[in-house]
Amino acid sequence: MEGLNLAMQSAVESQLIRGIMVGNNNLRLSHLIYADDVVIFSEWSREDLQYILCVLKVFFLVSGLKINISKSHLFGIGVDDNQVTSFAAGTGCQVGLFPTKYLGVPIGTNMNHVGNWSRLIDKFSSRLSSWKANLISCGAPFSQGGLNVGSLKAFNLALLHKWKWRFIHCSRDLWVRVIKSIHGEVFERAVGNSPWANIVSACNNTFGVGLLPSDVIKIQVGSGEFVRFWHDIWTGSRSLASRFNRLFHLDVYKDDMVAAKRMNNGWNWVWSREQIGSRNFELLDMMRQEIEQIQFHDREDTWIWGLSPEGTFSVKSAQDCIDFNLLPSNQSTTTWYKFLPRKVNIFLWRFKLDKLPLRWNLSSVGLEINSVTCPVCNEVIEHRDHLFFGCSLASDLWSKVRRWMGCDMPIFSSWSAFVTLFETHQSSVSCKTRIISIVTTLLWVLRRFRNGIVFNDIVLRKCMLFDVIQLYSFNWLKHRGHQIFNWNLWRLQPL
Ligand SMILES: [Zn+2]
Repeated sequence: MEGLNLAMQSAVESQLIRGIMVGNNNLRLSHLIYADDVVIFSEWSREDLQYILCVLKVFFLVSGLKINISKSHLFGIGVDDNQVTSFAAGTGCQVGLFPTKYLGVPIGTNMNHVGNWSRLIDKFSSRLSSWKANLISCGAPFSQGGLNVGSLKAFNLALLHKWKWRFIHCSRDLWVRVIKSIHGEVFERAVGNSPWANIVSACNNTFGVGLLPSDVIKIQVGSGEFVRFWHDIWTGSRSLASRFNRLFHLDVYKDDMVAAKRMNNGWNWVWSREQIGSRNFELLDMMRQEIEQIQFHDREDTWIWGLSPEGTFSVKSAQDCIDFNLLPSNQSTTTWYKFLPRKVNIFLWRFKLDKLPLRWNLSSVGLEINSVTCPVCNEVIEHRDHLFFGCSLASDLWSKVRRWMGCDMPIFSSWSAFVTLFETHQSSVSCKTRIISIVTTLLWVLRRFRNGIVFNDIVLRKCMLFDVIQLYSFNWLKHRGHQIFNWNLWRLQPL
């Protein structure tokens, strides 16, 4: 079949067959060959059809492999039915009708309609039932296999991430070129209502809700030719666009590769303003210092999957990590506090489950990280009860908060100790609401401060943390909890 492939390619190059244009990158698609299954695309014209038949005939003369025209189908897209019938009659092939199937997958139907999946589902169910029968006959009980809903969800997400990995890795493959031509070069930015955009949004979402660490795919820069300067994570643990956002917005060429920004061993940016201002200049200096540490080589850039020791993607490693971060199915119901913002509720939920991406948790799912010590004090392993209770900064904040609340709250060193205490605490609903609000704000602020250190974008200063706790908890209770407060009173006596 390689012969047919070459014959088709040269017919397209000599413009005998036009093929079809896909997307916006001038990508011309003329044929797909899988085993002995061949699909040929071209613009609708008698000449193109004649040349296609010629190529098939030449292929037969050279290889001796005859393509049975009478078993082939001619499909017209956006073409009058009569024309299709007439062209088909002229060549001796059959008229094809949509929807049809290619390699068992339905083509020409809207896959957003549930009903259109039924044929595929039926096919899988029939395979599954025989598979199940096989397993049962071998005497392997399902209950011991750990086959639960959670892991199926993780498995599905892991498979979607495989698309992302292959998109980055196999950039020369035809399918990647087709996708890029339609949806753009940047994986994360595909939008709209299409299967591909849905895959992208599911992958993006996995990072958003913390099921996978955002820097799970890292880059070892070689020449920087295939690494996007702002979007890819090639230095630090987040993209430069997210860490130096102001500079990113000022850059005229946001999608440049690293190599394009390196000129004669120096760095080159084109800013949208002539004067970028002193604050941005400082940022630029910081960024420059960081990227000047990177060693460039003449070899290709390589992508590293952080969850496997050999650095290559495996569905299993992605699935395990996602599973670890998913809510266990037997977890009791989680309280949702209306007076706290959504992101804080999610944070609290993950905090309670001890599923925050802290260093100890990350390393225990097998992620290779440089250090497991607490980024705040650099002394102890960073796990939940240390960062939020035992760490020097945390205990300092707790004692300030304890003094501020004015209740005889004993000192505690873990979340479970706090919960026990809170549940037995005798007070009104409104008082408990305030306590929850203040305590959650404390945890939230600590987390933000910690992330500021880890991700190198410090937004909160240590000396301000207590004030921030007072302010946030006040605002949330006032605006979301609809309790009327007086700010001065709140600062003096919150309970
Ligand atoms: Zn610490």
